[in-house]
Amino acid sequence: AKGDGRNRVAYFSAELDSQLRDKMRLESKLRQAVSCEAFEIYIQPQYDYKTSKFRWAEVLIRWEDPEEGFIPPDKFIKLAEETGIINDIDQWVLRATCKLWAEHGEALRAIGIEGVSMNLSARQFYSKTLFAYVEAVFEEYGINPSCISFEITESMVIENIEGAIETMERLRNIGSRISIDDFGTGYSSLSYLKRLPIDSLKIDRSFIMDIPGDTNDVAITSAIIAMAEKLNLSVIAEGIETKEQCEFLVEQGCFHMQGYYFAKPAPVRTFLKPQLNAAVE
Ligand code: C2E
Ligand code: CA
Ligand code: CA
Ligand code: CA
Repeated sequence: AKGDGRNRVAYFSAELDSQLRDKMRLESKLRQAVSCEAFEIYIQPQYDYKTSKFRWAEVLIRWEDPEEGFIPPDKFIKLAEETGIINDIDQWVLRATCKLWAEHGEALRAIGIEGVSMNLSARQFYSKTLFAYVEAVFEEYGINPSCISFEITESMVIENIEGAIETMERLRNIGSRISIDDFGTGYSSLSYLKRLPIDSLKIDRSFIMDIPGDTNDVAITSAIIAMAEKLNLSVIAEGIETKEQCEFLVEQGCFHMQGYYFAKPAPVRTFLKPQLNAAVE
């Protein structure tokens, strides 16, 4: 039995070792990826049921590693946050988003897309230099701030509500929009939601996944939609994969939807009209 225990310890430490090695390998790859800008941005349009058109689009980062292929953001954003690499990534995403809108905004507007929204990490959102950086990049690319929306997760807001409100106000004062991402997962209270200077709520995919079958998720989703309406906020449901989910949401009064059912994230040219597409290639 003694030998057994020792083996187990050896096994665990080997396992930890290999986890740590994987993490360090990923970190060094990520640093390399930042320095050679090995990222790309995809967009995922958001559908407006009332007009049967796409209306906004979310920008999502993609990283293709020469050896490992696409590494999903869920695999590297957390590591990037822990190591601080996220600062460079976030700045890259902001520039890439502005460049995308400067180059393709007109073509996107021609298919109904009024603007693009990008995700902000907690570090970037609470950084003292964020606002000045955003203004400088908008100016550099000649961006109308009202065409850019920032997605901030509910849990980020809860970290520091006063700080969050201040940054949101500055961004909204120049005309940009703010959405609360992954809404419903952060246990926020109604009392402060009312105080937030925001434009919309995005209902987290985990609630959408099992509607209309799961009664709890049905209750939560319809409550969020009703609440958004009372607070005069627009509401976007994310992760719609089926016709049934779409129909349920429409019945509840949610007309803005994002999900594979309407469009998967893809490079911007995928969504442009063929004739405009020819012009950009
Ligand atoms: P998120 O902001 O909640 O983004 C939505 C995620 O749901 C995206 O995953 C999108 O591809 C996925 N999705 C959309 N529709 C469906 C659907 O119908 N079914 C399923 N199963 N998934 C769907 P993605 O691109 O892998 O991104 C994951 C997370 O990584 C994002 O969650 C966001 O938190 C973070 N992220 C992505 N891009 C960026 C970025 O540029 N900057 C920062 N800071 N974070 C990012
Ligand atoms: Ca998002
Ligand atoms: Ca989300
Ligand atoms: Ca999410």
